[in-house]
Amino acid sequence: MSLTLTILGCNSAVPTLSRFTTSQALQNSSKTYLIDCGEGAQIRLKDLKIKRTKIHEIFISHLHGDHFFGLPGLITSLNLSGRLTPLTIYGPAGLSKFIHTLKEIGSIYLNFELIIHELQADVFQKVFEDQYLEVYSIPLKHRIPTTGFLFKEKEHPRNILPPSIKKHKLSIEEIKTLKNSKDVTRPDGSTLYYMDHTIIANKAESYAFCSDTIYDEELIQYIQNVDLLYHEATYLHELKTKARERGHATAHEAALIAQKSGAKKLILGHYSSRYKDLSVFIDEAEKIFSNVDLALDGKVFQVSEH
Ligand SMILES: [Zn+2]
Repeated sequence: MSLTLTILGCNSAVPTLSRFTTSQALQNSSKTYLIDCGEGAQIRLKDLKIKRTKIHEIFISHLHGDHFFGLPGLITSLNLSGRLTPLTIYGPAGLSKFIHTLKEIGSIYLNFELIIHELQADVFQKVFEDQYLEVYSIPLKHRIPTTGFLFKEKEHPRNILPPSIKKHKLSIEEIKTLKNSKDVTRPDGSTLYYMDHTIIANKAESYAFCSDTIYDEELIQYIQNVDLLYHEATYLHELKTKARERGHATAHEAALIAQKSGAKKLILGHYSSRYKDLSVFIDEAEKIFSNVDLALDGKVFQVSEH
């Protein structure tokens, strides 16, 4: 099952009409995983026709407003639209208090269960798993506790060859067994070998989200050979001192992380509002890493380009 990434917001600090603050939707054919929730994320979701009912998990990197101010609006809108299915939010310490206070002060009574998992910011560990993928927290170095997230698809079962189904009148159970790389022994004693009746499926895909952070080579070990890497690039390298002081990275540094981690593709984002023409970010990063693109609101990326 292939993954697509839609950028809902790409700016840092303040939203502009064309560049909302950070939020992304990672989707497979069944679910949408929301990553950060900057102001206006729900408007972009609507605009891009991404169904909110498919969102069951939200992953928040840190509690700077440009990464989570969209939560109050989204949560209350979900409630008003009649949502009953639970929603789980993963994020740093303090998130629970924020949601609690919001509900209390705003007299908000939710009709669905809202589950908050506060994460330890300084460890790489599995924080979530479903039938499709695993999510790991990535410790980042920013001004406050911050985690990136690594999304790793689980290995896909093999694909059955359609002619085999017809020829051998395969049952659902037999198809399942063959797809899981196991041979089938039939009542008449004959054996169906999975290698004869299935082919290898697309390889599992991986996406790493790294925002916000200084240039930090320690994170390379966690994101080895990812198909797609999003790395913040708030500034160009001429402002590298400012970037470091503010807990951010430059396009040059993002490209170095992509190169050193063996990422197949790099997306830059979290631009400072001082930059109107973003092509300069590509120019700077391309000198180090060739397969680079810009996060822009509404832009859709295939996680793997195979
Ligand atoms: Zn921040």
